[in-house]
Amino acid sequence: MASLEKVADGVHRFADGLVNWYLIVEGDQLMLVDSGWPSSWSRIQAAIQSLGHSQEALRAILLTHGHADHLGAAEAARQKTGARVLVRAEDEARVRGQLRGGSSFALVPKLVPRLWKPSALGFVLHAARHGFMTPRWVAEVETFHVDGQLDLPGRPQPVATPGHTEGHTSYLFADRGVLLSGDALVTLDPLSRDQGPRLMPDAVNSDPRAARASLAALEALAAGLLLPGHGKPWRGSPADAVRHARDADRAA
Ligand SMILES: [Zn+2]
Repeated sequence: MASLEKVADGVHRFADGLVNWYLIVEGDQLMLVDSGWPSSWSRIQAAIQSLGHSQEALRAILLTHGHADHLGAAEAARQKTGARVLVRAEDEARVRGQLRGGSSFALVPKLVPRLWKPSALGFVLHAARHGFMTPRWVAEVETFHVDGQLDLPGRPQPVATPGHTEGHTSYLFADRGVLLSGDALVTLDPLSRDQGPRLMPDAVNSDPRAARASLAALEALAAGLLLPGHGKPWRGSPADAVRHARDADRAA
């Protein structure tokens, strides 16, 4: 499968249109970090198969946050495989579809002023085609607080990075030297298509000031590879990536 790319030992990236999801392999167990669009289940299934596993090997779906381009296929995957779905407690209501103002439509008014740009309009149409406006919420969700490593494949350490959403969480896989930063620090702005380490645009952050402050939580982490929710992998330390993101923010 062309889009499944091994980026580190036991870490595979799938560029699913403009969003990424990741498969973490530990022995005969698999975990997804994020689950793409509502339409992504068939691609997840094929990716699992291409790694030589059966779909029952999928033990968990760990979410960075509760937006429809990241929780997309979680409910389908949960129902088909019995995998647990986990998110930090502050985003549980979003993932269950119970947050007032948590629907995809809530993002639209802030996007409208940007739609004159072909790249922004292109993203909205791309997202709509992938089911973004009709999310499939997750019926059974487990929550956690940031408190050491999670007992899941790859032993991820959650790092609270609120701002994009209240409960946005990044995950450090310390043994593998990999930081999965979700939408707290990306390498592609899906609206402008600008590349390089950067924040998501304020129009899609629920608290832009908190999003900026969260960069400090990533800065101190030890890793050599940044794997974002949008954009290509970035080799270097989180501190360097954060420096680039702050420069890009000042230049904007
Ligand atoms: Zn996103």
